[in-house]
Amino acid sequence: RAKELGRSRTELYDERLRARLDARVRVERELHQGLEAGELRLVYQPVVSLTTGGIRSVEALVRWDHPERGTLAPGEFLPIAEESGLIVRIGEHVMREACRQAASWRERLGDDAPLPIHVNLAARQLSQTTFVESIVRVLAETGARAADIALEITESSVIENTLLASDMLRELKTLGFEILLDDFGIGYSSLGYLQQMPIDVLKIDRSFIDALGADADDERASAIVRAIVGMADALGIDVVAEGVETDEQARLSQALGCSLAQGFHFARPDRPETVEALHERWGYALTPSERTASASR
Ligand code: C2E
Ligand code: MG
Ligand code: MG
Ligand code: MG
Repeated sequence: RAKELGRSRTELYDERLRARLDARVRVERELHQGLEAGELRLVYQPVVSLTTGGIRSVEALVRWDHPERGTLAPGEFLPIAEESGLIVRIGEHVMREACRQAASWRERLGDDAPLPIHVNLAARQLSQTTFVESIVRVLAETGARAADIALEITESSVIENTLLASDMLRELKTLGFEILLDDFGIGYSSLGYLQQMPIDVLKIDRSFIDALGADADDERASAIVRAIVGMADALGIDVVAEGVETDEQARLSQALGCSLAQGFHFARPDRPETVEALHERWGYALTPSERTASASR
């Protein structure tokens, strides 16, 4: 009896494992086809100045319009793409799309364009020795300028080959790309990266901003944000508060010294036309409270 039960459990486990692997292989194949078929597109989320209320740049975030499952967020397919290596081709596609959009905005709107566009980089991209070459090629193909693209890295995207990554980032910065450190504060060696990498802007992870104004965690979160801003200031680095969802979080982030913010409170990631319209409306002149007042009118 016990032996039977044991065997059936093993079988059940095997079955589940097989089902999971099958699902993974299927998603991988569909993603491959979807990439070819143009099912991956970018949405854009503004990063706003907390002093002027204007849009200072926009982050490109990938979406997959799956023919049966609807629009999928990156969390549902990027991990599989990273494991299979497909992330490199997805990354190239994202870079090309972002550069096309940047070139088009630059051409039509000139200095009034909501640029630069931030592009998120995956670990595998930065561990490729040909990365700089490929990005320079995409610039040439699309007519975008390095200054109109900002690169977002995380600790995990440089962890695979820190020396290579820091050399390439230096080269990219020399070429005119802005470099941001994303999700700051939740990794193991954020400070080491600040020391080694040529970072222009750091983005304080959403978890700290989430805790601002929440009774139980507020004091600790405030202290951490204040410390990060102090350190960034001393290094000449700008700070973005990520994931600002409420007016209070916007106010507290600003009071703690963050000059920039991003989050649903200001705008959700959306089609380029929507961002363009917001940029036209918000401009660079209004303060956030003036903007709230004019929006509620
Ligand atoms: P991230 O780079 O930290 O991007 C910010 C994420 O936070 C986005 O999720 C955005 O929609 C979400 N977000 C923005 N404001 C708020 C807010 O106020 N509240 C909450 N709860 N969330 C907010 P998304 O688009 O699902 O992307 C998730 C992650 O996937 C990104 O985190 C980034 O690490 C990765 N990712 C997205 N697009 C790309 C890409 O093109 N390439 C690579 N390598 N990674 C990407
Ligand atoms: Mg990012
Ligand atoms: Mg982030
Ligand atoms: Mg993140």
